[in-house]
Amino acid sequence: MARDHEKNNTVIPSAAAREQLRTFGDPTLKQKTREVTVFDARLKALSDLMFEVMEREGGVGLAAPQIGTLSRIMVWKNPEDNDASQTFVNPRIVLCSEEATSAEEGCLSVPGVQMQVTRPDEVTVEFQDLRGVSFEVHLAGLPALVVQHEIDHLEGYLILDRCSKEERRRVLKELRERSLETGT
Ligand code: ZN
Repeated sequence: MARDHEKNNTVIPSAAAREQLRTFGDPTLKQKTREVTVFDARLKALSDLMFEVMEREGGVGLAAPQIGTLSRIMVWKNPEDNDASQTFVNPRIVLCSEEATSAEEGCLSVPGVQMQVTRPDEVTVEFQDLRGVSFEVHLAGLPALVVQHEIDHLEGYLILDRCSKEERRRVLKELRERSLETGT
């Protein structure tokens, strides 16, 4: 796998950009992120900023592209560990169960929409922490779904790319009607 050879690829959004959560239609959400190779204070600052936005928006997880940064990093509150805050740097799914479940999912970047998404019940995820130390976790149930959702963002996928054609059509129609109503 190709690695990024840039010296420091962590770009902190400007003060103006950080106020804005990227939503459906923003091209950043469709792009694949770059591997993080430098574990420094800037990376910690990005993680802090992501927690700030996640809390402000009332989310349980957030991926860097949602605030316009194409770095492979996600944050979340682990629902099975007293909502403990955790940062996953360079997360990758290395194993997933054959059993899958369809559940309703929402996304801060597709506001006001709930969609049926089918995902494997259990996953094993490799990631690094903010110091670059490697870990592997096995997740099942809701935590597994949340982390898969956030890793999708790091690959440039939204829930709209993970649902049935009918579901996608229904939601796109809903989004179109809403933007006509508000004139945006
Ligand atoms: Zn999302």
